[in-house]
Amino acid sequence: MSVDTAELKRLSGAHHWHPFTDHKELSALGGPRIITHAEGVWLTDSAGVRILDAMAGLWCVNVGYGRRELADAAYGQLTDLSFYHGFFKTTTAPTVQLAARLAELTPPGLSRAFFANSGSEANDTIVRMVRHYWALKGKPGKKIIIGRDHGYHGTTMAAASLNGMPAMHAQGGLPLPDFAHVMAPYPFEGQGEMGAEAFGRLAARTLEEKILQLGPENVAAFIGEPVQGAGGVIIPPDSYWPEVGRICREHDILLIADEVICGFGRLGHWFGCQRYGISPDFMTLAKGITSGYIPLSAVMVGDRVAGTLIEEGGEFYHGFTYSGHPVACAVALANLDIIARDGLVRRAGEEIGPYLRTRLEEVLDGHPIVGEIRSEGMIGAIEIVKDRRTRERFPGNGRVGLMARDHCFHNDLIMRGIRDSLVYAPALTMTEDEADEVAQRARR
Ligand code: PLP
Repeated sequence: MSVDTAELKRLSGAHHWHPFTDHKELSALGGPRIITHAEGVWLTDSAGVRILDAMAGLWCVNVGYGRRELADAAYGQLTDLSFYHGFFKTTTAPTVQLAARLAELTPPGLSRAFFANSGSEANDTIVRMVRHYWALKGKPGKKIIIGRDHGYHGTTMAAASLNGMPAMHAQGGLPLPDFAHVMAPYPFEGQGEMGAEAFGRLAARTLEEKILQLGPENVAAFIGEPVQGAGGVIIPPDSYWPEVGRICREHDILLIADEVICGFGRLGHWFGCQRYGISPDFMTLAKGITSGYIPLSAVMVGDRVAGTLIEEGGEFYHGFTYSGHPVACAVALANLDIIARDGLVRRAGEEIGPYLRTRLEEVLDGHPIVGEIRSEGMIGAIEIVKDRRTRERFPGNGRVGLMARDHCFHNDLIMRGIRDSLVYAPALTMTEDEADEVAQRARR
């Protein structure tokens, strides 16, 4: 499809409000780049330039772009049954089949899937379920949900309240009441001389301190991404999650694992919970569930909570018109087939993930502004510092990552800038040649 780039830019400037975008900055740049095609890990813009996407879109295109099978799955379902819903007493075949497949894939004890359209909606759903659960248990005071600094869980009012991002909270009067935050297990910033494992336990214990300070009778749940993604790819020491699990159990706090980025192979396991031995009461799924081909999210609900809500809760007055949309679920089923058939989970954990990390280390070895390269499976970050020995930061209040991102963008490489780091999370299908290319372009 050929497009009139200048006209589209004009229309965009006049009419399209981009998410997470400074529009003055965008118009100073002459408007957005218009992406017209994509195949594998390559995007093509309307000028015909090929761009290497090391972010899988927004951490979501796990199977790579341009998969005919997913288009066929959508087409087949659209022609058979374009839409029907699950309100009241109906459902559709792909909706049920996907729920059952997810129950099988996720760790034991998460037997039920509630569908929504985005990670934000899924997390909002969890907030309501958590509060309803404790009310049914005769503990309506248990309302506070604790998230973490640099956590990201979405942009609806409740999901954004879970986030640990002050700049977001400053817009719109967030967080809402009954949300609290504790420190992130960010070894590069906090570990100092104590070593990673001691730091992991220390970070986890800030959760226990917060619970005791607020009173366990007031705390409903803790939410965390197994590896924090949009907050800067913060990879916890192995000691962190077991300690969090212990704390939640001892204080009767529900544990929510937000797997929106980590799920579906990114960490070299089907789910981050398996990598870190987390036994959650809820799991949030989105993005890789359909590899971004169509919007879909799911809340996996643990048996303890589901049992109470279903047996004692009556009707749960919650749902979206498109909860369990048959076309989205058909695409998700085909996407899960590809991930399993092509061995993409192992590929992320044992093959291309470590390969990309090694190439980045080789190519950036000794680079004066690289403070650390860290990764887990097929997600990673390059930490940028002014002095690699002392880890002194550049001035600019955490905007160095954005500058680096912009340099990459102008060199036709998509990485993400988060504070002082440059972050990557490519499709799990990336080839070794493409990984070499990422490393070379990142160095430039
Ligand atoms: N949770 C996590 C961990 C995420 O990374 C995101 C989005 O990046 C969300 C939730 C929100 O998902 P959505 O943008 O689909 O609402």
